[in-house]
Amino acid sequence: MKYSLLLGLSLLITSCNTAQTNSKKNLTRIDYSNTITVEDLKNHLYTFSDDKMEGRMTGEKGQKMAAEYLQNFYKANGITAPNNDGDYYQEIPAEYFGRMDEPKPSENVVAFIKGSEKPDEVIVLSAHYDHVGTRDGKVYNGADDDGSGTVGMLEIAEAFQKAVKDGNGPKRSILFLHVTGEEIGLYGSKYYTENPIFPLENTVCNLNTDMIGRIDPAKKENPNYIYLIGSDKLSQELHDVSAAVAQEYSDLELDYKFNAEDDPNRFYYRSDHYNFAKNNIPVIFYFNGVHEDYHKPTDTPDKIEYELLQKRTQLIFQTTWEVANREGRIRADKL
Ligand SMILES: [Zn+2]
Repeated sequence: MKYSLLLGLSLLITSCNTAQTNSKKNLTRIDYSNTITVEDLKNHLYTFSDDKMEGRMTGEKGQKMAAEYLQNFYKANGITAPNNDGDYYQEIPAEYFGRMDEPKPSENVVAFIKGSEKPDEVIVLSAHYDHVGTRDGKVYNGADDDGSGTVGMLEIAEAFQKAVKDGNGPKRSILFLHVTGEEIGLYGSKYYTENPIFPLENTVCNLNTDMIGRIDPAKKENPNYIYLIGSDKLSQELHDVSAAVAQEYSDLELDYKFNAEDDPNRFYYRSDHYNFAKNNIPVIFYFNGVHEDYHKPTDTPDKIEYELLQKRTQLIFQTTWEVANREGRIRADKL
């Protein structure tokens, strides 16, 4: 009696597990990508770039509130901090921000998904979550800069975490790095690369997102695009993989206009990926170009093109999926 009950139960459990595993394994990278929705992006961004965040100036109250928002998101989704102590904040001391008049301490926010097969190899996704604060009573909401990249990263993390729960998690690890101090001199990413949580030699690549929710006026006639910068500077392999992923999983045009060596805007040097590139880590910088509301109080969430933001986020998700799961590690083959 005992024996057969146990046997019966175990058979039942086995069959349930099998059914569950089978149905879950049938989910593809496209299914996970489809969990990145316009609705979620919009909900996050309206909160994240609300006036209450006071323009998220490094070291100020609004930035701390924004950090808390990010931390709460990861906690709620069961995505852990990279350190064993469970701390999602990488504290940066006030002295580090030497250029400011009255420097205050600030923090990067970090979350981590551990790879199932090559956990020591880490892909770093980054987006800065600080902005320029409030001036003359006007809040600089920074919905595009870089609320768009920030909420995109949250959605990417959520999609990967769903895959983890289904037993389809990435083979390599992914660090979600929300950097502070970008607007005042790329401080958060500089600090991270000088005090890396995981060794830089194990950092496979950095995919950095800074402004992906708007349309460059120059692209008004052909708005289905994203500018890619830096993808071929250190690694032809990364460039080729990124292009192949876009071909397969996206209808966005990859525009390399600002990747030209002689581009006068020098965007390659102007966002957080550059601190990784300086350390010979292959990078891609995803960018929509500047627009009339760039660094103005009018960079608000109502002006974001949410379907475009979704497509661009999905492209970055698919590229991350590829570099995290492909057989060989991406190498800096142009050094
Ligand atoms: Zn920015």
